[in-house]
Amino acid sequence: MSELCLYNTLSRSKERFEPLDGKVARVYSCGPTVYAQQHLGNLRAYLFADLLKRALRFSGFEVRHVINITDVGHLTDDADLGEDKMELAARKEGLSAWDIADKWTQVFKRDLEKLNVLPPDVWCKATEHIPEQIEMVATLEQKGLTYRIDDGVYFDTSKDPHYGELARLNLKAQQVQERIEGAAAKRSPVDFALWKLSPKDDTRRQMEWDSPWGRGFPGWHLECSAMSSKYLGAPFDIHTGGVDHVPVHHTNEIAQAENALEVRPWVRFWMHGAWLMFEEGKMAKSKGTGMTLDQVEGRGIDPLAYRLFVLGAHYRQQMSFTDEALERAQTAYSRLVRHALELELAQDSAGVSQVPGFRKRFREVINDDLNAPQALAVLWEVVRSRQLGGVEKRTLLHEFDEVLGLGLAEARIAAPELNARIEDLIRQREEARRARDFAASDRIREELEAEGIILEDTVEGTRWRRA
Ligand code: AMP
Ligand code: ZN
Repeated sequence: MSELCLYNTLSRSKERFEPLDGKVARVYSCGPTVYAQQHLGNLRAYLFADLLKRALRFSGFEVRHVINITDVGHLTDDADLGEDKMELAARKEGLSAWDIADKWTQVFKRDLEKLNVLPPDVWCKATEHIPEQIEMVATLEQKGLTYRIDDGVYFDTSKDPHYGELARLNLKAQQVQERIEGAAAKRSPVDFALWKLSPKDDTRRQMEWDSPWGRGFPGWHLECSAMSSKYLGAPFDIHTGGVDHVPVHHTNEIAQAENALEVRPWVRFWMHGAWLMFEEGKMAKSKGTGMTLDQVEGRGIDPLAYRLFVLGAHYRQQMSFTDEALERAQTAYSRLVRHALELELAQDSAGVSQVPGFRKRFREVINDDLNAPQALAVLWEVVRSRQLGGVEKRTLLHEFDEVLGLGLAEARIAAPELNARIEDLIRQREEARRARDFAASDRIREELEAEGIILEDTVEGTRWRRA
């Protein structure tokens, strides 16, 4: 049997995956900043994490999955400048920052459910883990790895010889850049805030806490280092996020955690999802150009058709969003569901000897760094196969859908309901015919025909089949 191989950003290569404890894969996924609805690009990041999780299970591993909710501290600028996105949104919407966070967290979870994304074992919010974050800063301070300037406590990257290894940063080039641009009071442009102090003027922040360094709020990267270790221990197996997180967010998470917890490597596999591009440039929530799942549904497109669209590209491959591509995905998805429904009723068996071959190929492509496009190709081959019987197709479809999550196995639930409805209509039609109400009986026949159900009146009674 082939073994699961995953691309590790740390080594820039595919490596065989095995949980550190041999049994439970411990996975942390950087979650959303909840100041607005997640757009389709953001959602791609969680569809990738979900595919990973399903593939881990498919390989027989248990999975412990944590996703965080960033509800404080993510500034509009990655260089520790700009405003807190939550406070900004609160001002714009005239709600409290807490209400904004609640509102968009609920919407996010609902969107994931619509996309068949399995819920994590732990959801954790930055604002509910302030003591853990303060403790991590204090530890780093005790080790002499921090310094204070006017607006907060910063991590001194010059004290960490391993800083920037994940992103393979060229720190010398960055120092030169700093001299050119003359960055503010930070000692190096890559040093980053651990604790930001609230502004000294009258503009009060809604979200702020007391700390040994003064009233303020945690730097964005801190929550992920602190919460992942709390819920998964250290080291742990896999950390996921968007590819944009490599040079700053994940680089800084590593610096904090490896120094505070004295464990290196802190995370065994770093995995990054590529971007979804929307017309001109990446889909950016902050620019308001990203389409949401609500808008997708508003166009009569099933959220799972969006899932199918996303699975059509490898997770490390940049994708372009177009209306046509989304519509094509809907057509394909409807076709797939129709096949799945038909197969629920199938009783013909054939091609049993071919089943292991399809199974093997599907597992091989999934184990090859989650190659979903190839996995979909195997799925379509099964659906279209002339050798496989309906029973065998149904078995394979259900198995594959454990990984793809397209809701095909749920057709199982839909099918009996559908059958019951058809039988009911046939009974009504028979009653109408007995009452010589031929107009009513014809109406029922036409209604069913429109759904692709053909009625045949035989001596034993009325039978039905799909067109
Ligand atoms: P944020 O809410 O900005 O912290 O982003 C949440 C997640 O979505 C992060 O993992 C980002 O890397 C990811 N992300 C943001 N925009 C895109 C995009 N256009 N395509 C794919 N992933 C994205
Ligand atoms: Zn994170």
